[in-house]
Amino acid sequence: MIPILELRTQYSQIQEELEEAVLRVLRSTSYILGSEVKSFEEEFAAWNGVKYGIGVGNGTDAIQLAVRALELAPEDEVIVPSFTFVASAGAVALAGSKVVFADVDPVTFTLDPDSLEKAITPRTKAVVAVHLYGHAADMDRIAAICREHKLFLIEDCAQASGAQIGEKKVGGFGDMSCYSFFPSKNLGGIGDGGIVLTNNEKYDESIRMLRGHGSKVRYYHEILGTNSRLDEIQAAALRVKLKHVDEWNTKRRAVAQAYGEALKGTPVTIPTEREGFRHVFHQYTIRTPKRDQLFEYMRANGVGPAIYYPVCLHLQKTFANSGFKKGDLPVCEQLQEEVMSLPMFPELAHEQVMTVANVIKGFFNEKGE
Ligand SMILES: *Cc1c(COP(=O)(O)O)cnc(C)c1O
Repeated sequence: MIPILELRTQYSQIQEELEEAVLRVLRSTSYILGSEVKSFEEEFAAWNGVKYGIGVGNGTDAIQLAVRALELAPEDEVIVPSFTFVASAGAVALAGSKVVFADVDPVTFTLDPDSLEKAITPRTKAVVAVHLYGHAADMDRIAAICREHKLFLIEDCAQASGAQIGEKKVGGFGDMSCYSFFPSKNLGGIGDGGIVLTNNEKYDESIRMLRGHGSKVRYYHEILGTNSRLDEIQAAALRVKLKHVDEWNTKRRAVAQAYGEALKGTPVTIPTEREGFRHVFHQYTIRTPKRDQLFEYMRANGVGPAIYYPVCLHLQKTFANSGFKKGDLPVCEQLQEEVMSLPMFPELAHEQVMTVANVIKGFFNEKGE
């Protein structure tokens, strides 16, 4: 089976460096907020061209703490695209704000600025823009809308470490940006991890307090914080991986290019990269109205694709009280029926890409298309 993701090859390539880093932490006996976290925060922020980085427990906490740092009132609304991983919206709700869903662009799968504008009410205070599958959202327009309506802007960069618009990496277009280092992300740790980036000193201070029981000085608690820290072992591993991620992203782009060429002439819609954007292909996601049949056919023929995501968020039971119903966000609803992500990781061999493409071609040949 050609899997959607395989981490073993990458591990074997960096095994020595990685194990050395982990051992270094183990032997240091400094396990919480030590020098590895501090160094990684600085290195990752610098790599993104952003001033401050605050390591947290995971990507969900990164978003939750970012929203909490805005100090919104419970009735305040935060606009989130409905076609994304649950945490983009769940974290907003956990932070105590009201989630309002918007539709996405059918080509880039990211927040549609027109739908965003329509969703704005006098209670709207913030927007979460998600750079889904590794392609940046339309930040020029989204940031302009946020400026015009005085809304805070948070970027969900969990799937987009290293993605760019022009020469600028994502993560510096809004007030704060949030990353996940879950092992399957294109920059992934060896367990859970996350970070918030910001250029604003005030948010840097707030997130640092929020992640550590609400205190600046130990045992003096100014606000209600939580316990959500990036741990030393994760930070040490991520420092190793950060040195390789540019090269891995370049390899992902080459895999995507090969898929694109191999799938030419088939009826599937392949992902596109907007002009001037740098897609990092966290996922390579195609579209076809025959998705469910193709999915079964591929599984029966040695390929393990995945469906991200089969149910958009405004139709999830957990958001049943959001006031949305079927038919409200037509692009999201169509995507949930048509998207399918193909095996994608930097080490995916050219023959494997060809095998996947040939299975897809076989399916449509059998159908006479
Ligand atoms: C993975 C992911 C998250 C959550 O990150 P965790 O580290 O798993 O909590 C949030 N948003 C998006 C778009 C993600 O893909």
